[in-house]
Amino acid sequence: MKNTFALLAVLTTIPLVYPCGVHQYDDEKQFPEDNIVYNPANPEHRGWSQYLTPSLAKTRKLVLTFDDGPHPTNTPKLLDILKKYNVKATFFTVGEVLKKYPKIGKRIVEEGHILAGHDWRHTNSNSESAKQFAEGLTMSVKQVKKHYPNREMYYRFPYGAYGRHQKYHHFNVMKEVSQKLFSENCINFAFWDMDTSDWVSNMLPKDIFQTLKAHFDGGKAYRFKKTTVNGRTKYVKEPFTIKNPIAGGVVLMHDIHAKTVKGTEMFLEWAQTNNIEIVPINQVKEFEYRNKNCELSSLTPTF
Ligand SMILES: [Zn+2]
Repeated sequence: MKNTFALLAVLTTIPLVYPCGVHQYDDEKQFPEDNIVYNPANPEHRGWSQYLTPSLAKTRKLVLTFDDGPHPTNTPKLLDILKKYNVKATFFTVGEVLKKYPKIGKRIVEEGHILAGHDWRHTNSNSESAKQFAEGLTMSVKQVKKHYPNREMYYRFPYGAYGRHQKYHHFNVMKEVSQKLFSENCINFAFWDMDTSDWVSNMLPKDIFQTLKAHFDGGKAYRFKKTTVNGRTKYVKEPFTIKNPIAGGVVLMHDIHAKTVKGTEMFLEWAQTNNIEIVPINQVKEFEYRNKNCELSSLTPTF
């Protein structure tokens, strides 16, 4: 989820408010709605704030999510740490990479974590045709399902990018892919409430820890800042102060970085004595599958 929208930097500093007129989904909020045909020209169909996780705000509960892996050394190290603290996380894996490291995918599932999709090649889907997006999504889902047959299928758009293509809307394609694979609307997209900017090159483990902590207790945090050095775009960390912490929600991190593994360990140690609860994503209201029956269709071709 590198190089995310600049918008995300400010999301962490604004209270959870919804612009007037934004459609509110009380049920199955982070699933595409069955009865809506999404239109990329409709601003209500391409926002971000309506897909945050208000049920966790101010609860001191969080969902840990890790994107872009699995990584051959850092993901196993992270799994050791999650085991030590008895914490369950969600891994949004890149399909092609998961295929390369099946043993790590297997371990993620065996240790009680949720395996999820993050496209086949981490492509910004706003630059893809509907057909290309459908292919990447389908391959990603199938790769995840090889290891994770449970009914939940969570998917995160690389860069959080969706709904900006002129000719189609991603949610309509997601519904079509889901219909084909599962015979009902079963793919749940997942955004995030707290961005640690852990991917920024000069972020240190202690900066990641500090940023996570500040999302609960306020104070100094770091976010990414875009700069240009010798004509090239560079992202660096920028300190800022969180005055009104969200204090609960979905956390975005990346298990491909060693510093993220260390920063997570520091945070989990602190969390033990600071009234923090880490919850699995499938137990959060906005992501629950409830009575959905989402088994892969028997008509699905073999992988
Ligand atoms: Zn990513």
